[in-house]
Amino acid sequence: MKTRLAAVLWGLTFSWGVQAAEPLPLFDAHLHYNVEAAQGPYPLDTVLKLFRDNRITGILANSRPNDGTRALYEAKPKDVWVVPFIRPYIVQPDRYSWFNDPKIYALIESEHKRGYYQGIGEFHLFGNDAKTEWVKKTVDFAVAHHLYLHAHSDDAAVDIIFAHNPKVKIVWSQYASIMNGYRDWLAALPKDVAEMIAWRNAECLFRK
Ligand SMILES: [Zn+2]
Repeated sequence: MKTRLAAVLWGLTFSWGVQAAEPLPLFDAHLHYNVEAAQGPYPLDTVLKLFRDNRITGILANSRPNDGTRALYEAKPKDVWVVPFIRPYIVQPDRYSWFNDPKIYALIESEHKRGYYQGIGEFHLFGNDAKTEWVKKTVDFAVAHHLYLHAHSDDAAVDIIFAHNPKVKIVWSQYASIMNGYRDWLAALPKDVAEMIAWRNAECLFRK
């Protein structure tokens, strides 16, 4: 986590100098605020300031455990829109076993009772690991409660998820890193396209 957050923020900071005076607002659709960051170098105030300084105006937030996401959401920052997702991990090794673990399904149910989550994920799920009854239950739970799934998966697992329930909505993350010079790349695109990628698509998907 520490490495990942640093990489993301470094990438955004790196291109700061070449950006025009008014940088595009960005929705970060892949943010983990795990315990190593939250209780380490990035307490809540620090991380919110980093978002503001880099004009991150929205985040799809999830964390291991879910305390970090709750802290971000419950802070209700006026200028950072937090879209909270339930992460099905309590500790790091859950990444390799959550799909076969009734305790994790119970975690999803209890977190969901908080009433504000908009999705489940990001989770890692590959190939036939998606065939378990607990994944099927998770997919059906998401459909029943109008939640997105944020899946870091191969196409085999995505096919199985859709076979469990064709009504499921998936945010598919195949790449777990944000390129450096992201703002440079956006700046080279037509303004309307850049704005869609930067934040309008997120508004369409997640703004209630
Ligand atoms: Zn991730």
